[in-house]
Amino acid sequence: MAKDYAKSFYNSNAWQKCRAAFILERTRIDGGLCQHCRKNLGYIVDHVKEITPGNITNTDITLNQNNFQYLCLACHNIKTFSNKKKV
Ligand SMILES: [Zn+2]
Repeated sequence: MAKDYAKSFYNSNAWQKCRAAFILERTRIDGGLCQHCRKNLGYIVDHVKEITPGNITNTDITLNQNNFQYLCLACHNIKTFSNKKKV
């Protein structure tokens, strides 16, 4: 689940639009496959550089499609899990 500071961002029209456009683009490119395993269909638009309280208002990070990746649930969980281990 989104962290508290990110909730209003994930609920924003700007994010919803950007996310939908990115999914459309990925669907056009490869049918919407997960960019990590390329086996499952994508499920979550993930930020490559994680959103933090410090960059949540920086649209170069939060709304930049170059910072997005389309992941299936399994790959997203692996990423989330390994990030937690590093902290
Ligand atoms: Zn995957």
